[in-house]
Amino acid sequence: MKNVAVLGATGSIGGNTLDVIARHPERFRATVLTAHRQVDALVALCMQHRPELAVIADPALEAELSRKLTAAGVRCDVASGREALATAASGNLCDTVVAAIVGAAGLQSTLAAARAGKRLLLANKEAIVMAGPLLLDAVAAGGGALIPVDSEHNALFQCLPAEGLAGGKPSLHKGVRQLTLTASGGPFRGRNRAELAGITPEQACKHPNWVMGRKISVDSATLMNKGLEVIEAHHLFGAAPDLINVVVHPQSLVHSFVEYVDGSVLAQLGNPDMRTAIAHALAWPERVNAGVAPLDLTACAPLAFEPPDLTTFRCLALAFQALRAGGDAPAVLNAANEIAVEAFLAGSLAFLSIADVVDAVLAELPAQAVVDVQTLLERDRVAREAARRILRNAC
Ligand code: NAD
Ligand code: MG
Repeated sequence: MKNVAVLGATGSIGGNTLDVIARHPERFRATVLTAHRQVDALVALCMQHRPELAVIADPALEAELSRKLTAAGVRCDVASGREALATAASGNLCDTVVAAIVGAAGLQSTLAAARAGKRLLLANKEAIVMAGPLLLDAVAAGGGALIPVDSEHNALFQCLPAEGLAGGKPSLHKGVRQLTLTASGGPFRGRNRAELAGITPEQACKHPNWVMGRKISVDSATLMNKGLEVIEAHHLFGAAPDLINVVVHPQSLVHSFVEYVDGSVLAQLGNPDMRTAIAHALAWPERVNAGVAPLDLTACAPLAFEPPDLTTFRCLALAFQALRAGGDAPAVLNAANEIAVEAFLAGSLAFLSIADVVDAVLAELPAQAVVDVQTLLERDRVAREAARRILRNAC
């Protein structure tokens, strides 16, 4: 029996994780559930999954959560605050942690799970983008394992040789020539910059193939999501930037592929449903039913592939630039992007200006070496401040 902490249980990945867990009560138990501010959604999940502990990130909502859980007849411990998230992720109630909080807010709990030697199922890509080497060191020191949930990285993990998890993380085989991440291209594939001038948050959040949280939906529309994933792949698989390639594949059926020096190309395919990657990561090295419809290749649209348009979708180019700059440049990129996306979703920044803000913050804060978590968090704060100032001056 695996005891699973679902960090970000009320989100899209959290919900899909709980769906897979509920299909296998003899294998998995959700022992810890967390949310940011969605008290009612968290109570509903607690009624269904009966965890040992519920954590609400916003301390002001702890009393309301306790009251509502009692009224609903749920007996579980309640905690609140960022520290409580980290404590829950590293404590005895779980052996497996699904890191599904969105953004830098998930960094500390993800690191805590790694240090504590948990089996860490990583969806929170911003954590590894910000703190790649620190996170990998924490996994190695903790003696646990890091299994990617992001569909592209989970696909690559499945296509790489099954040599186990060297140092607790997936490792790149010497015979690998290239890792190719597929990208759907988002809702605006094929459009030029003039056509993207007046894009609204609702249009950006309408992804053609995946139903996801709003932040990652905007990242998919700008292709920053693919940029973050390139950086994620670099850290996860120890792959040099030149070894990582991006190809647009609008059907989202081929989730990524690995090319070997002998000319072999191994790809992982499946319907676009995150439960496949989640079930794979939960059960690895075994396989369990994920509730995903079988893929019928005779009935689906022809598979197409095209290069990404880096002139229109500048965020992908900026992510490659930050990866090549190294050090904390990816953390600066991520912080600036989080602020810019927030502003876009709030209606105060144009879609195309997201890249401008990220570009300006990267130019203002040249890469520095990553020393420890404290300096990284300080850099994150400074980058956010710079992004906010640039936004104020632009308006
Ligand atoms: P979401 O917005 O649907 O859910 C986010 C979850 O995090 C919620 O439970 C929310 O309560 C919690 N949260 C938000 N801010 C928080 C804070 N400050 N403190 C504590 N908790 C907080 O997001 P999602 O789409 O489920 O994505 C989660 C993560 O997984 C992201 O990093 C995303 O990039 C990654 N991911 C998502 C998908 C997908 O299909 N949705 C696919 C691959 C990777
Ligand atoms: Mg992905």
